[in-house]
Amino acid sequence: MTGARDIRQTVIDLLPPATVAAVVAFWGLAPTRWTEHPLSIILMVAAVTIFVQALEWVAERHEGWRMNRREFATDLAYVVFNATVISWLSTHLAEDPLRAFKAWAGITTQWAMHMPFLAQVALVIVVIEFGQYWMHRAMHNTFLWYTHAPHHHLTQLNAMKGAVGNPLELLLISLSVVALFDLPLPALFCGLSVLTVVSTFAHANVRANPPAFYSFFFTTIRHHSLHHSTGYDETRTNYGNSLILLDRLFGTYREGEGVLVGQDDRRRLSILEQTMFPLRPAMEKIAARRGTAPEGGEAVAR
Ligand SMILES: [Zn+2]
Ligand SMILES: [Zn+2]
Repeated sequence: MTGARDIRQTVIDLLPPATVAAVVAFWGLAPTRWTEHPLSIILMVAAVTIFVQALEWVAERHEGWRMNRREFATDLAYVVFNATVISWLSTHLAEDPLRAFKAWAGITTQWAMHMPFLAQVALVIVVIEFGQYWMHRAMHNTFLWYTHAPHHHLTQLNAMKGAVGNPLELLLISLSVVALFDLPLPALFCGLSVLTVVSTFAHANVRANPPAFYSFFFTTIRHHSLHHSTGYDETRTNYGNSLILLDRLFGTYREGEGVLVGQDDRRRLSILEQTMFPLRPAMEKIAARRGTAPEGGEAVAR
């Protein structure tokens, strides 16, 4: 029966690249009345999320990461929060002003409109991921850590965990300059969908280890679980949310995999604790001045 099991594992390993291919084919080939509809991207993100979350049932990676009701309710709340509040803030505070600036400064990038579809998709992916890589790296090396630490307090990884974190972090990581480029909507949506597929698989409790033609460029659960592991040095590698190629280029790539994930004493944080986390340094300072320890405030290790 080893043969049947091998075939099953090969199919599972090919799921991330096959999903990327299916998503690209949809945006490239479906009628424009679908691909240019503003709701289409929301439906696509929802479909990808449901698909990968469902895979955790049939192709579990680690028993210790098994989904339960509390995790599911929390993760789902963050997915909805990202799709509504964070998305609204990001549009109105960053993208709209950026587009207004572009119009005011007379910047045009019409050349991008005339590129082949796949080149446009690649442009979207590289521009967004380049920004996210440096934002993520800065979060691990500056005061911005206090916004990102809650994401590292996760004690298990699942399909929707990429959406879980401090609201300030979620807003910061959503920022990008992609609005500066003139691009057709289907190409923009395609790039966003590919990033969703890759980053969802990279957080999911799914037993897929994609082949090198995928894992050389795209982040996998192996890469990202190492980033989430309990070792300090390991968390300062593999910053690429979806494009691990950037870690290879900028010298932060590390081979390996994490099973035990979490921060400090590996205590799971509540939504309130995650939200209030950036205030910890101030609270600790006040407590130190009063000569008392802050309530629930353990030492913060990066
Ligand atoms: Zn991180
Ligand atoms: Zn993560």
